[in-house]
Amino acid sequence: MNCTNCGQNNADGAAFCVSCGAALNAAPPSPPPAAAAPAYSAPAYAAPAQVAQPPVPNHLVWAILATICCCLPTGIVAIIFAAQVDGKAASGDYDGARKASDNAKLWSWISLGLGLFGGLAYAGLVMLGAIADAGNY
Ligand SMILES: [Zn+2]
Repeated sequence: MNCTNCGQNNADGAAFCVSCGAALNAAPPSPPPAAAAPAYSAPAYAAPAQVAQPPVPNHLVWAILATICCCLPTGIVAIIFAAQVDGKAASGDYDGARKASDNAKLWSWISLGLGLFGGLAYAGLVMLGAIADAGNY
């Protein structure tokens, strides 16, 4: 092995460098713990910043209810946005998570609105049909 201090080639297993006397076996293990210490402390400093972020509501329940009860195509759009919220929040993309959350809420309401409108329109058509049928007799 080569001495880490002076580069002298020493016999494998030698405890000290024959050229400069530096410890050969003790020297290599000591740098990794020193280098690893900042790597372990860095997440500890970064963690409080993430904890400080409030949870982003994903509106997934509303999106699913809107899809089942009201309007399927727009409800699926709401579910897609709702599904993006948790993933983006977990990856630290809080702006993206909030945008997806807002979109999920928006499309859930659009679904509810279309569902109510569609229901009223359907009821209206049924009544018109009933009136038209009544007129035929
Ligand atoms: Zn040496």
